[in-house]
Amino acid sequence: MNESKHFLPFTQPSLDEATIAAVVEVLRSGWLTSGAKVQAFETALSALLGQRIVKVMNSGTAALRMALRLANIGEGDQVITTPLSWVATSNVILEAGAKVAFVDVDFASRNIDLALIEPALTPQTRAIMPVDLAGLPVDRNRLYEIARQNHLRVIEDAAQSMGAVWQQQRIGAIGDFVAFSFHANKNLTTGEGGALVLPPDIDPALCEQLRLQGVKRGRDGVMDVAVLGYKSNMTDIAAAIGLGQLQQLDLITARRRLLAHRYFEQIRPEWGLQLPPPDNGQSNWHMFQVLLPLGINRARFIEKMRSQGIGLGVHYPAIHLFSLYRTIGYARGDFPIAEDIAERIVTLPLFPAMTDADVDRVCQAIETCLVTFNSK
Ligand SMILES: *Cc1c(COP(=O)(O)O)cnc(C)c1O
Repeated sequence: MNESKHFLPFTQPSLDEATIAAVVEVLRSGWLTSGAKVQAFETALSALLGQRIVKVMNSGTAALRMALRLANIGEGDQVITTPLSWVATSNVILEAGAKVAFVDVDFASRNIDLALIEPALTPQTRAIMPVDLAGLPVDRNRLYEIARQNHLRVIEDAAQSMGAVWQQQRIGAIGDFVAFSFHANKNLTTGEGGALVLPPDIDPALCEQLRLQGVKRGRDGVMDVAVLGYKSNMTDIAAAIGLGQLQQLDLITARRRLLAHRYFEQIRPEWGLQLPPPDNGQSNWHMFQVLLPLGINRARFIEKMRSQGIGLGVHYPAIHLFSLYRTIGYARGDFPIAEDIAERIVTLPLFPAMTDADVDRVCQAIETCLVTFNSK
């Protein structure tokens, strides 16, 4: 009966014609890699984020890895983070040679439970890496209070937070290291890409060197390599997409917010779904995620929704239960709240080009699918 309706994916980027034209212009220009567009994108991001220093990279992962390197975190150090995130969050800590110390999440916000950080501290703890899951900001006041009192650095995994705000200030305009992702599914995309906001004690020139093989150019143009760097620079093609997306950022965020409001209106309490915290103007509504009632088989629910023409996502499986993390000692039962959420969470379709009718269609399908479960 739904064959005539288009398939609704859980997300889809919004690129306007001006952005597409700007990319074509870069393609015709003869300069594809890091150049004028990268510079312009960094300047525009800096203007957006209270004139802080911003360095763009080829992924959010690269930005996180760079932050750890610039903070001098590696072998023998420990970083506290959440097990309910994309695996990049903790992979970069392992890759830096440091120990990942997960602590459980708060059930309502689904973000790291800040009350569990101090009990988890050891003499090796050097940093906290919080994640704003779905674009809902972690309490920055408490976070930075804990960091200050315990002499810890903060590396904000703000991969999902572009356009989110904390007390009237954009995420990225305040804080220590702040890493964004511009992956295709993120609110602001460059296809693949990322950015790192640098704190004042970090030398931006060192960040630039590390971003491209450690290469340093003297004023005479002579090149030297004194440190081992990465290959993390962004292309002008990607930066052109980013510049176009920045023009749309506030529109994109506003549209996402309205769609989230519609979900809150349309989802009926009797369906037994656990909703995200209500909108308080801070989240950028990167995702709208609900927990299925206990006893509903998620894989079958997702399959049924798919047969109704609706794509759902799972963000995310608990990181500590992946094989790699089990081999370093984590096990089922370590973080019960994260595990419960990870097993029941689904991401509903939410992207700027969706209509209100699309939201209603998702909600009708949810009702239909949950009713068929209950009638068995
Ligand atoms: C997307 C994402 C990353 C990684 O960003 P990439 O650009 O894919 O490297 C890291 N952490 C979180 C929470 C993310 O959502």
